[in-house]
Amino acid sequence: MNVLVTGGAGYIGSHAVRELTRSGHEVFTLDNLVYGHREFVPSERLTIGEVGNSDLLSRIFTDHKIEAVMHFAAYAYVGESVTDPAKYYNNNVGSTLSLLDAVRRFGIRYFVFSSTCATYGEPQSMPLDEDHPQNPINPYGRTKLMVEKIIADYGNAYGLKSVCLRYFNAAGADPEGGIGEDHDPETHLIPLILDAALKRRPSITVFGYDYPTKDGTCIRDYIHVTDLARAHVLALDYLVRNGASDAFNLGNGRGFSVQEVINTAGRVTGLPIPVKRGEKRAGDPAVLIGSSAKAISTLGWKPEFDSLEVILDTAWRWHQQRFEK
Ligand code: UDP
Repeated sequence: MNVLVTGGAGYIGSHAVRELTRSGHEVFTLDNLVYGHREFVPSERLTIGEVGNSDLLSRIFTDHKIEAVMHFAAYAYVGESVTDPAKYYNNNVGSTLSLLDAVRRFGIRYFVFSSTCATYGEPQSMPLDEDHPQNPINPYGRTKLMVEKIIADYGNAYGLKSVCLRYFNAAGADPEGGIGEDHDPETHLIPLILDAALKRRPSITVFGYDYPTKDGTCIRDYIHVTDLARAHVLALDYLVRNGASDAFNLGNGRGFSVQEVINTAGRVTGLPIPVKRGEKRAGDPAVLIGSSAKAISTLGWKPEFDSLEVILDTAWRWHQQRFEK
């Protein structure tokens, strides 16, 4: 199929571009390169521009006979979404409306949306499944939930077929190299730990040691980005096979504590990782683990890079390639 990937030069989007291409799809990317990296996508596959630009979307849909859209382009800093919500609502919701209207004008039937476990908010039960109430606790999570609702309404009214994929903690990098995690500013645990290993930062600060977990540090569900990318391809296949519009969690099903991630990174890199004790970060629940049973049974998905060692090993190889002087 001819697929448009918005945000295809970003971390998860670029991995989806690779997996779609490996599966035989014709892939085109739209990215404004605000946070994306030009070198993450083949240049002949990249259009630089805004998702909110209707004329540009019309051109792309016409020129490339687009049949399906995967929508990754969004701002994703939780803290910034609290201090500058306008930026998040305008882009994550406003621009998505322009995209959805173009999708409707061109009669595109399939839409796969990059959503998040942040739409659930404070966990009421563990592991989180798709029926858990969605009460996001920050504007970022709310923008993603709003788009989920808008897409569902477009499905009911206009027949758009969609899958929303709710990610847990994306991590790792394509084992073939060349793409991986590179955010500016970087806020995520694993790249910050690897920075400390490379001495690009003096240490990693652990946010909180007195959570009610086995070692007192937060537990998260780290899912390899290549596994996430594969799920997008499967989600598209599912829609084309006439699967009903739905939402699926994508996680590893296992939790690892911050301390375990640091210890494993020490083994994988063979380098010392200086650690500092910090305060809790606002809004961080003690444990977040997802149940992906529905994606496994309905999409035929299965995480293949599910060991923390493998996740860190691929992240480390990318990190060295990208950042080691
Ligand atoms: N974390 C930490 N120090 C950091 C960054 C993150 O201790 O410098 C912890 C954070 O509290 C959370 C886990 O690492 O429990 C993963 O955080 P990250 O920001 O990578 O992802 P999030 O879970 O917020 O999506």
